[in-house]
Amino acid sequence: MSQIVGSRLDPWVESYAARTASMTVSEIRSLFAVASRPEVVSLAGGMPYVSALPMDQMADTVSRLIRERGAVALQYGSGQGDPTLREQITEVMAEVGIHAHPDDIVVTAGSQMALDLMVRVFVDPGDVVLVEAPSYVGALGVFSAYQAEVVHVAMDEQGLNPAALDETIQSLRKQGKKIKLIYTIPSYHNPGGISQGPSRRQQVLEVATRNHILILEDDPYGLLGFDGEVPRAIRADDADNVVYLGSFSKTIASGLRVGWALAPHAIREKLVIAAEAAILCPSNYAQFTVSSYLATQPWREQIKVFRELYRERRDALLDSMKVLMPDGTTWTTPSGGFYSWLTLPEGIDSKAMLPRAVTALVAYVPGTGFYVNGEGRRAMRLSYCYPTPESIKEGVGRLAGVIRAELELLETFGPDAMPHTPMPTFGANTPAPDSL
Ligand code: PMP
Repeated sequence: MSQIVGSRLDPWVESYAARTASMTVSEIRSLFAVASRPEVVSLAGGMPYVSALPMDQMADTVSRLIRERGAVALQYGSGQGDPTLREQITEVMAEVGIHAHPDDIVVTAGSQMALDLMVRVFVDPGDVVLVEAPSYVGALGVFSAYQAEVVHVAMDEQGLNPAALDETIQSLRKQGKKIKLIYTIPSYHNPGGISQGPSRRQQVLEVATRNHILILEDDPYGLLGFDGEVPRAIRADDADNVVYLGSFSKTIASGLRVGWALAPHAIREKLVIAAEAAILCPSNYAQFTVSSYLATQPWREQIKVFRELYRERRDALLDSMKVLMPDGTTWTTPSGGFYSWLTLPEGIDSKAMLPRAVTALVAYVPGTGFYVNGEGRRAMRLSYCYPTPESIKEGVGRLAGVIRAELELLETFGPDAMPHTPMPTFGANTPAPDSL
């Protein structure tokens, strides 16, 4: 019966939960298949450069772990996470000014899972989540999967704008909307590439607390600043109104899938129950690997290695854009993290241009992926974390050429009659690993 009523391709189409309707494939995911081709310079994905890890030491750590503690490392563990690792996480968070108790930490499979748990615990369909404009695509996916109403709040050169935040809150409340969370990435924003200064963080916190709205502070890049300074987390100044998300994906290795949430006690309990329902417990093996690494390796030194590496790549991106990009193109100057946000000359649509860029063997993520409302057509996210400085320069050269050619097309056809170019397939495109 369902086969007749439903789609020919999917006989279960009538059976899905209502929330599944909002689960659509991210445009970034589908882009990775072409962007990962060796001939394409990908400024699209956000894969950390894990090859810079000391692999021999990692191998020793893992092999010693299995030999000496295999029976525990390969067993189920606590739903909240390993107590020793939680203790060590408090040391990592001290770097961003947070002094917390290990009991308030929940270890998760990457901070992505912590995002999911927070939304599961707080958001009913139709509840509002406030996010920066633009915002992290992986978080937008979680919010829409739980049928939240996502409302963007303007950013300026210092990040989330507190006046705009306050205005948005008042206007939504007048409409009778329930606002559950303010989701922000204050340090080295994905995709904006900018950071909130100390007073900006205070202002955002003031608006949130005055309106009694919980801040969800997502901080995977906080330790990856290029100027020697580590931004103080918002959570460092308020333990009651902020849930802080951290991750070892960028400071150690994304493949281990270890992140965490630091939450006020009552919320922490709910998160553990939600985590147990989702996965019973986080992987002991991955947690013990992180824990042994932190205990035996110079992890702070390794973070410095990553910072230097990403700084060099950031410089390669910015220096070559300065020389090569046509007039009217602007971009943010990241002082840490993985991304710069580029705004194209008036009239150019980054999404329509993408197949022409991939044909010219360079990929980026169109700005529309970072909004829920179709904005971002004139923008794109460029990431410099994975390609070498040489290929970043090559990629920028290709991209600048594509933008110039686009300006010529625009002159010839006008904005409403631009030619349509299909995405090249390079033979069989296969899904590739990458990160949002
Ligand atoms: N938040 C932000 C802002 C991110 O950029 C990412 C990864 N790209 C994540 C969360 C998820 O990281 P993970 O699950 O690997 O900790």
